[in-house]
Amino acid sequence: MAAAAVTVTTPQGAQEVFARGDLLDALAVLRLAGVDVQFAAAAGSYNASAGDHQVQFTPGGSLAVVDGRLTRLPGPLRQLEGHVVCAPATAAVLLAPFGWTLSGSDASLELAHASAGEQIEVSVVRAPTGTTLVVRGTKQRPQVAATRGAVALLFATPVTLAKPIAPEAELLGGDLRGTTLTLRLAPGAEVANTYPLDDPPRFVVRLGTAAPVAAVAAPRAGPLVVLDPGHGGGDQGAKGPGSELEKDITLAVARATAAQLQAAGVNTRLTRDGDDTVSLTDRTALANRLQATVFVSIHANASLARGAHGAETYYMSADASDAQAAQSAARENASASPDTVQLILWDLAHVANLNNSARLARSIQERLNELQGIKDRGIRQAPFVVLTGATMPAALVEVGFLSNPDEAARLALPDTQQQIAAALAAAIVAYLHEPTPTPATSPAGTPTP
Ligand SMILES: [Zn+2]
Repeated sequence: MAAAAVTVTTPQGAQEVFARGDLLDALAVLRLAGVDVQFAAAAGSYNASAGDHQVQFTPGGSLAVVDGRLTRLPGPLRQLEGHVVCAPATAAVLLAPFGWTLSGSDASLELAHASAGEQIEVSVVRAPTGTTLVVRGTKQRPQVAATRGAVALLFATPVTLAKPIAPEAELLGGDLRGTTLTLRLAPGAEVANTYPLDDPPRFVVRLGTAAPVAAVAAPRAGPLVVLDPGHGGGDQGAKGPGSELEKDITLAVARATAAQLQAAGVNTRLTRDGDDTVSLTDRTALANRLQATVFVSIHANASLARGAHGAETYYMSADASDAQAAQSAARENASASPDTVQLILWDLAHVANLNNSARLARSIQERLNELQGIKDRGIRQAPFVVLTGATMPAALVEVGFLSNPDEAARLALPDTQQQIAAALAAAIVAYLHEPTPTPATSPAGTPTP
């Protein structure tokens, strides 16, 4: 028999909170911590806020936006008997930005103010051997996520900044959100390596020439396009009424697109060139290792609405632009479990790439609209996990709906696949030839949740 309530001890005394099995009412626990929780009907998500901190989350999802940053939760949030419930570990992650901890067993939990943790200070140290960023006051070895222009340190336990980070020639600034310290580097400054030191305890980020990633990349003169045929191997993706498989259609379209791009003189690589199982992480890892210019993931859609038809192009966003976009992302993310470092890397890279990703997606959508005789279908944003690992402009295209019997039959035809491939190749070539607009935002600015 599942428990109907769990006792939560708070500084104000013991409180009963709705619970079923090991799941408890997340909204009730947040409110016990003095956090205001509102439902945003337009977004279908909850917005929890207190002081300067905000957390958005969606029942049915395992991702939250914590102070503007996409974060993976330990487990999903669910709707249950009119409550939004989750495991205590997930509730603890939602509470952390507001300075609260949740600990104890399933039967009895304790809600308490978090200790402020280690007091850290960041300074720039210049020496004949090179320049380092020194984080004093920590005995931790944070996880490090570095990209061009920024480095993020992910601490395991709470830290606070003893004083604001002063800009210097090499260090443009930084901020601490939750337990993630992000440092923005001057142009040309890159992370060479990181290490902890004792007496006094500190963590060092050495700046210099980044590891020679280019050494493993094929030498090339022009741009490189990485095409990602969705699914493959044991993961067949969506299935049409005539047993058309998404994994077969995506591979055929990707191969044909690659052939057209190569014919146009554009170097192209596929993340798989057979019926292989490839993890979402490995797909973008290939693009990153090759320092690809763009990454395009190719999929086919499914919808409960049988009449749904036509192509849809997405670029990565923490939030879905509409319900259909959220549904597509939820379906494509089913096999994914991004780690936090991957999400942070995306967060660091995507603001700089956002304009270009939108431009790439728009170029693709316009040509597929022309091909399929669809007027004015716009591009959409959604949190597609396969795009989170890409450190270059990236888009995901659903070339049509396999759930629509007519469209599924057409998508399985080599002629249709060639036409879609021609449209995709033309769109990518047009994107590559457009002049690059100057990004309007700073490379590591705060994304709008
Ligand atoms: Zn798919």
